[in-house]
Amino acid sequence: MRKTVIAGNWKMFKDLKESEELLQGVKAQAASAPSSVTVVVCPPFTSLSLAGSLLKGSPVKLGAQNMSEHDEGAFTGEISWKMLKSTGCEYVILGHSERRQYYGETDAKINLKAKKALANGLLPIICVGETLKEREGGITEQIVTTQIKGVLDGISAPDMERVTIAYEPVWAIGTGKNATPAQAQEVHAQIRGLISKLFSKSLADKVVIQYGGSVKPDNAAELLAQTDIDGALVGGACLKADSFAGIFKSAKKK
Ligand code: PEP
Repeated sequence: MRKTVIAGNWKMFKDLKESEELLQGVKAQAASAPSSVTVVVCPPFTSLSLAGSLLKGSPVKLGAQNMSEHDEGAFTGEISWKMLKSTGCEYVILGHSERRQYYGETDAKINLKAKKALANGLLPIICVGETLKEREGGITEQIVTTQIKGVLDGISAPDMERVTIAYEPVWAIGTGKNATPAQAQEVHAQIRGLISKLFSKSLADKVVIQYGGSVKPDNAAELLAQTDIDGALVGGACLKADSFAGIFKSAKKK
């Protein structure tokens, strides 16, 4: 049985004081999260160290929003796996559509980052998803297949067990327009089928596939009830403890 992983991507929001307030709120609410749910928060880099201290001993896991594919060196503005681990990070979001769109991240680069994270004990949450034009052009499966093959290239089966895939249709991110549960389930099943082909059915059955794109407390339960939806990557609704908790508390055991 797969666990449900609900991760909050804070993006470029929350200074230190605001981060502390939100972390305290999430920590308090997570005490009553269903036992089948793993709650992850991904604050900006500047709040990771604070978050690591505040979350010590709590079930809430810490993640980052990006990571360099290099170990260290002259890479101004970049953050390494070692720096993330020193703050207490266990997860790292890779290849978010905003990174792809605004910072030119390619599947090949995301693949290097994923391998670097896995080699160093971080759990990557790798994002894939089609644009509105691609969906309307009927090529969603083709796009997602190319992305998945690219980002997972050369990753071994044992490492794949530690990968989370986030299916995030770009047209649903930050737009208030979520994929319907049926639309999301269809793509999640395709992704699981592809992982089964690339690795094995038993491995595909273990991989956590999150949905992301305008997940809110009032649509989370129906999305999370779908057979192949094993969690959510949440943007806007994770910026308030109550709405984030409304999402992770609505996950029913499957
Ligand atoms: C995201 O940024 O990954 C996301 C899904 O954002 P939102 O929930 O705001 O659509």
